[in-house]
Amino acid sequence: MTRLLLTAIAESQGASGLVLSALLAPAVPLAWALDRLAELASSRWWSAHLGLCQARCPRGHVVELGPASWECAACKLSFDGHAFEPCPYCSSIAYAVLCACSLPVLNPLWDGDNGD
Ligand SMILES: [Zn+2]
Ligand SMILES: [Zn+2]
Repeated sequence: MTRLLLTAIAESQGASGLVLSALLAPAVPLAWALDRLAELASSRWWSAHLGLCQARCPRGHVVELGPASWECAACKLSFDGHAFEPCPYCSSIAYAVLCACSLPVLNPLWDGDNGD
């Protein structure tokens, strides 16, 4: 987001560009702070759950959670990473992954990180 704002400011030229820059400039520190906060939240999230590479389905089968290739349930795009990692495209977090036996392994982070 910060880069986007800076690009918009850098590319703006002329009188209208000046107005645009004046409008956008105060937003840069805010955007930067938000970016850092998001990074911090995601790194904390990640370090708190680094050990979570496997889980067990209700029948006791071991289900690998990654790193692997996953399809986001929300946007249907594939990404490499952890099963319960936020999707890099739409930021949605998988509610569950399916075991080979078709029973779901629920995401233990879902309640804590997403409210109800
Ligand atoms: Zn997605
Ligand atoms: Zn199973």
